[in-house]
Amino acid sequence: MSKMKIATVWLDGCSGCHMSMFDMDEKLIDILEKVDLVYSPLVDAKEFPEGVDVTVIEGGVGSEEDKHMLELIRARTHMLVSYGDCAVTGNVPSLRNRFSVDDLIKRSYIENVSAHGDGGGNVPGDAVPRLLPVERPLHEVVRVDVFIPGCPPRPGLTYFMLKELLEGRMPDLKEKTRFGL
Ligand code: SF4
Repeated sequence: MSKMKIATVWLDGCSGCHMSMFDMDEKLIDILEKVDLVYSPLVDAKEFPEGVDVTVIEGGVGSEEDKHMLELIRARTHMLVSYGDCAVTGNVPSLRNRFSVDDLIKRSYIENVSAHGDGGGNVPGDAVPRLLPVERPLHEVVRVDVFIPGCPPRPGLTYFMLKELLEGRMPDLKEKTRFGL
């Protein structure tokens, strides 16, 4: 039987959710024996492939590039998992939403840099993805199949979610977690 194709993606997050996956310890081996990891920050794949069974996404949608990537992933993925509070609610990156993008750029790249003595004015150019007006959780941009809360999600919860999906069941999280854990 062919292995399930799994991808993990890092959008606008801190990488803490991906780091938490490693805390599954030996259970990670149990999972990796049953899947092909076809795209991830952990593997050297340049293009997001077609026909992915499960994609686990960390982080919210903060830039035009994030939005484009998420829409591509949705079109190429059967089950999409919104993984961690930044993906599920916007969480930390959405703290910027009360400010305009212009004010954020000014504060980050002109005022704050000037305050630290190297002259300021080092505003990113066209090579850096343009920020969207507000940070958004994944489900406000595309359809999401599974929501896994946590900052980051607990390793045991991640293992449960992957195991259920691998065995063809929709993970039932009612007895496993709630927001704020
Ligand atoms: S949910 Fe927490 S650990 Fe995960 S990317 Fe966001 S801030 Fe980092």
